[in-house]
Amino acid sequence: MPVMDTLLDALDFPHAAPPEGGVMFLVAPGLWWLRMPLPFRLDHINLWLAQDGDHLAAIDTGIAMSKTKKLWEQLFAGDFAGRTLSKIVVTHMHPDHVGLAGWLNERSGAPLHMSLGEYHSTQNTMRGFGDNEDVSRRRFYLANGIPESGLDAFARHRGGFKQVVSELPPDYVRIMEGKPLFIGGRRWEIIAGFGHSPEHCSLYCAELGVLIAGDQVLPKITTNVSVWPIEPMANALQWFLDSIEKFRALPADTLVLPSHGLPFRGLHRRLDQLVAHHDERLDVLRAACATQDGKHGVELTPVLFPGKVLDEHQFVFALGETLAHLHCLEGRGQAERLVGKDGVHRFRTIGPAPTNVELHDVDDPEMV
Ligand SMILES: [Zn+2]
Repeated sequence: MPVMDTLLDALDFPHAAPPEGGVMFLVAPGLWWLRMPLPFRLDHINLWLAQDGDHLAAIDTGIAMSKTKKLWEQLFAGDFAGRTLSKIVVTHMHPDHVGLAGWLNERSGAPLHMSLGEYHSTQNTMRGFGDNEDVSRRRFYLANGIPESGLDAFARHRGGFKQVVSELPPDYVRIMEGKPLFIGGRRWEIIAGFGHSPEHCSLYCAELGVLIAGDQVLPKITTNVSVWPIEPMANALQWFLDSIEKFRALPADTLVLPSHGLPFRGLHRRLDQLVAHHDERLDVLRAACATQDGKHGVELTPVLFPGKVLDEHQFVFALGETLAHLHCLEGRGQAERLVGKDGVHRFRTIGPAPTNVELHDVDDPEMV
């Protein structure tokens, strides 16, 4: 998650500061911004409420913790002014987005709207992936350069997701790209995104000129795009880059409502910055992998995160991001995967390696 302060000048922020927690802030006709806390270094998420007849549709819900529930209660008793929820729309399965969807559904009866990929991935993550899950995790980390002696540190901490995500309802309304969602008579297009989560849904309303971007486009930090043990060969970064290209078809003055940071205009400039950010990382890795034997993910992680002291939790995300870039190079024919006798996957640059490349900003690996 890099901070790109110098580039932020290229974006316009119509609101200098976020609303207080538990208060609705109007950002467009019939559309309100909510701020909710997160117990991480990234300490907030933005949620959105859209007028839907006499009631309100929630877009994302906040992490399941008592502080967030209290703020929702404050809203119901205050700014909702007698209204209730008509729909709960969740962009994707990450706990800060889906966390209170089940609790809000139980409280209001409003149907949950999610994509197939996100709904089922949430349910599977809640329940685990079976007895062989740990086997595939060990295989994944061994293949990417963690020594056998270090594997225990990467064992799954079971139950963590459940602590911050309330049980989902057993049925839902499926949303998908190409099928508009009508909220209060306004048409919202669903734009699917891949690479950050299984089937992330951003929502675009042409009438309002508003994009509810979810985590796909953020103004100040970059979205985590990682390879995970469940999909060890995923080309997550290429999928992510291909997904955000779809936003170029939207008008340049679109008001972007991101899940983290402040609403902004300058969507196309931000897309250019994100592409440049990942290009720089791809070049740095191509330079680092220009060796006879290639290098594995664990060796290359410090190349993308120089000078960072990473705890095990952060290292998992840093390694995942490094692998996403390596798989992208492999997919583009710019690196080849060599599987050694030791079973470790190493990547070797194909063709001339770039010279004089350096990172202009360094990520703090996190889940967002
Ligand atoms: Zn996310």
